[in-house]
Amino acid sequence: MINLIQEYRPNGIAVTDLSAQLWCEKQLEFALERGRKETAEMKAGKKRHRKLHEEVAVLIKVEPKTLVDSVALKLHNAQVGLKRMILTGMTREVPLFGKINSLFVMGITDELYLKEGRLHILDTKTRQRNSMPSESQKRTTRFQLMLYNRLIQDLVSKKFTTEDLLNFYGFKISDNISDDFKKQIDNIGDKIEPNIKKLCDETFELFQRLPSPEKIMRIRYEFQQNKQLIGSDEFNFDGVGFQRDCNFVEEFWLGKRKAIPVGINNSWKCNFCEFNDICKEKPNG
Ligand code: SF4
Repeated sequence: MINLIQEYRPNGIAVTDLSAQLWCEKQLEFALERGRKETAEMKAGKKRHRKLHEEVAVLIKVEPKTLVDSVALKLHNAQVGLKRMILTGMTREVPLFGKINSLFVMGITDELYLKEGRLHILDTKTRQRNSMPSESQKRTTRFQLMLYNRLIQDLVSKKFTTEDLLNFYGFKISDNISDDFKKQIDNIGDKIEPNIKKLCDETFELFQRLPSPEKIMRIRYEFQQNKQLIGSDEFNFDGVGFQRDCNFVEEFWLGKRKAIPVGINNSWKCNFCEFNDICKEKPNG
């Protein structure tokens, strides 16, 4: 099955930005303003995820020409991913859309699988060091998975609908993908529904056929050097903590307050921060 890839990403807040906010909000603000430097660890992580994706899909690069094209591409990939899971029991890199409080959010969940009629969420993180991450890092990644869980729950239960998606982007129900993009997809022998509303309906109907995701989730930590498992972090969806964190991250995006730097107990994080030199708000600065 073919998954299409692109460089340009449509608007919407990324799940990974929301989870990074729990690590250090000030750092996220710097990253949004100035961009992130890609470290060797990040590159290796990306490479590993691509490899994992290629284990289940053929990836072909395409170039969306319009915003409709970019959103259509994500919907198409979600569709391909869900069909794969329904057929084989497992899939990887499924794009998700939804709302977290008042924020429109997008993400790509690492791995989904169906076992005995239940839907499970699994994530793989690669590490440069052969040890489990700090509690702080675990908390950030758990929040990331809980966000995926919530987005899927809302898609399954029709809480997030085609209308919500079209409204966010300001799309009309008659909007179609561009002829150029359609031609690119035809040329690789793939098919895509050209009308954005129909494509969205088709995709969301597939989500609605799934059971609600299990509350217990698992994160695999893998050593980058030899791809061996370091350990797994299994945890339960913590509804109260999740809502508290959602409220916290939302305030920043709504401009209700300035970005908060780490506190004194977490000042060790500044030693690993690429913005350490310019950050005037770090606790020991
Ligand atoms: S130096 Fe510390 S407080 Fe400043 S952005 Fe980096 S981690 Fe956050």
